[in-house]
Amino acid sequence: MATKYIIFTGGVVSSVGKGVTAAAIGRLLKERGFTVTAQKLDPYINVDPGTMSPYQHGEVYVLDDGAETDLDLGHYERFIDTSLNKVCNMTTGQIYAEVIAKERRGDYLGGTIQVIPHITNEIKRRIGLAGKTTNADVVLIEVGGTVGDIESLPFLEALRQLRSDVGRENTFFVHVTWLPHIGATGELKTKPTQHSVSELRSIGIAPDMIIARSDYEVEPSLCEKIALFCDVDRKAVIPMVTTSVLYEVPLLLEHAGVGDYLMKRLGLESRRSPVWSEWEKLVNLERSHRPSVRIALVGKYVELHDAYMSVREALRHAALSQGVEVEIDWVLSTDLEKGIGLDVLEKADGILVPGGFGSRGIEGKIQAARFARTHKIPYFGLCLGMQVMVIEFARYIFNTDKANSTEFDRSTPFPVIDLMPDQRGIADMGGTMRLGLYPCSLSEGSIAQECYNKPLVFERHRHRFEFNNTFRDQFVAKGMVFSGLSPDGLLVEIAEVADHPFMLATQFHPEFLSRPNRPHPLFAGFLKAAKAKAQIAQGEPGFQSF
Ligand code: GLN
Repeated sequence: MATKYIIFTGGVVSSVGKGVTAAAIGRLLKERGFTVTAQKLDPYINVDPGTMSPYQHGEVYVLDDGAETDLDLGHYERFIDTSLNKVCNMTTGQIYAEVIAKERRGDYLGGTIQVIPHITNEIKRRIGLAGKTTNADVVLIEVGGTVGDIESLPFLEALRQLRSDVGRENTFFVHVTWLPHIGATGELKTKPTQHSVSELRSIGIAPDMIIARSDYEVEPSLCEKIALFCDVDRKAVIPMVTTSVLYEVPLLLEHAGVGDYLMKRLGLESRRSPVWSEWEKLVNLERSHRPSVRIALVGKYVELHDAYMSVREALRHAALSQGVEVEIDWVLSTDLEKGIGLDVLEKADGILVPGGFGSRGIEGKIQAARFARTHKIPYFGLCLGMQVMVIEFARYIFNTDKANSTEFDRSTPFPVIDLMPDQRGIADMGGTMRLGLYPCSLSEGSIAQECYNKPLVFERHRHRFEFNNTFRDQFVAKGMVFSGLSPDGLLVEIAEVADHPFMLATQFHPEFLSRPNRPHPLFAGFLKAAKAKAQIAQGEPGFQSF
C-alpha cells in the first residue's frame, strides 16, 4: 500500500493541543491495525531544542537514538506506543544546515540555492525518511506554530507539493483551530477559524478536516457554519471540547467518527476493529475517586509545568496502576534555599527531584534530598536528582559541605560527580552529551531489581556528568547501594540508600519510557512507597481498602 500522510496545521493560536490531537489520531489508526509514525516540523532556527531553555520550549524529549526533540514526540510515543527516531523531528535550523553544507561541498554544481526548490526538497526528503525508516503505513506530520507565521512557510509549501507528489488520495490535511468565547454574549466565535482557513488556502492548502477546539460545548449549528464558510465536509468539522482527562482524546475522536472518516477518505480498509476497553478503563479510573498521594516535585522550572511534561505523565500512569491520585506540589528549589517551602516537604508522601542543568537552585535540591533521607520520606531522583542525592550523601558521610559535582564547583575537594573522561575538552553544547538508550544491569536483591523484575534494562540518557568511581567503595561502606551499573561495571546508573523505605535515583531518565497502560516500574515502585507513607500518615481505615 502507498504510504498515507496526515498533516496537522494549527490556526488562530498555538497551545490548543495540536500535538495531542495528532497523537490521538495516530492511536485511532493503530487500533485499526496500521503501523503509524509521527513527525514534528518545527519552524524555529535552532538545530534542535537541546540547547533551548525549558522556559522557552518546555521539556526536551529524548528518543532511543539520542535525538533531543520537541515534547510533542512524547505525546506521540505515549499515545501510539511506538518508538520514534531522529528523523521524526525536523527544524528549520537542521534543513538549512544540511542545504548549506551541501552547497559548500559543491553538490549543487554552481546552482543558485533557493527556498523553492532546495529547501522544500530537503524538507520532502526528510518527510520521506520518516516513513522509510519506521516502515509505517501512515505518517502523521505536525507543523509547529500557527498558519501565518513567516518561519513555517517553507514547510507548508513543501507539504502543498507533497500532495501532488504522492497523490491527493494519499494525503489528508487536518486544521486544528480555536473558537474564542465572548464572555459578554456567551457566544463562541468562528471568524478566526474562517480567517486561518483562508490564510491556508492562500498558500494552496485546502483543509480536509477542521478540529474546532473550545473550552465550551459547540452547538451543531456552529459546526454547520464552519463547514459552509470553510468549504469542508460537515462530517469533517469536529468539535473538541477541552477535557481534563488527556487519554480521553482518542475516545472522543473515535466517538466523533474521525477514525471511520479517515478510512473512507484515505481509501483504507480497517485491518481490525478498534478495541478501546483498555483506554476506557484508564479514563474511568482517572475519573474515579482515589485517595491522594502528595508528591513534592522540586525543580527550578516549576512555574512552567510543561518543562516536566513526561515526569508528570509518568507519575499519573504510575498513580493509576497503584489506585491513587497523585497531587503534585511544585516546589521551587531556589525557594527552599530561602527557607520557603519546607512545610510542603513536611506534608509530602514522596519527594521527586527531576533533571536539570546549571547551579541555580542546586543547594535547594540538596536540602530536599537531605530532608527525604533524614525523615525517611520516599525519594526518587532523575538524572540531576541522582547527582543531588549522591552529593547530599557525600556531605553526610564525609561531614563536609564541600562535596559537590564539578558542574557546580570545579575545585571541590570531593568531586563525587564529575565529567566523564570522554566529555573533557568538548566545547560544543549541542548534541554532545551521553544521549539515548544504554543498557543497565541490576543487582540481585536491590529495590531496583525488585521493581523491574529482570536483570538487564535499557533506558534513555541525557547528561554530561557521572558518579565518580574513586568514591565508590567509601559510599558502599556507608550504606549506598549501586544497584544499576553499565554492563562493564564502569558507570553508575542507579543508586539506592539502604535502610530507607525508598530512596532511589537514576542517572537516566525513566520518565521517557512510561506509557499510560504500562507505567514505568520505578515510578510504580516510588508511588507504592509514597502510598504506604500516606497510609501511615493518614491512618484512615478506609484508606487501606484499595
Ligand atoms: N547537569 C547534569 C549533567 O549534565 C544532569 C543532567 C540532567 O539532569 N539531564 O550530567
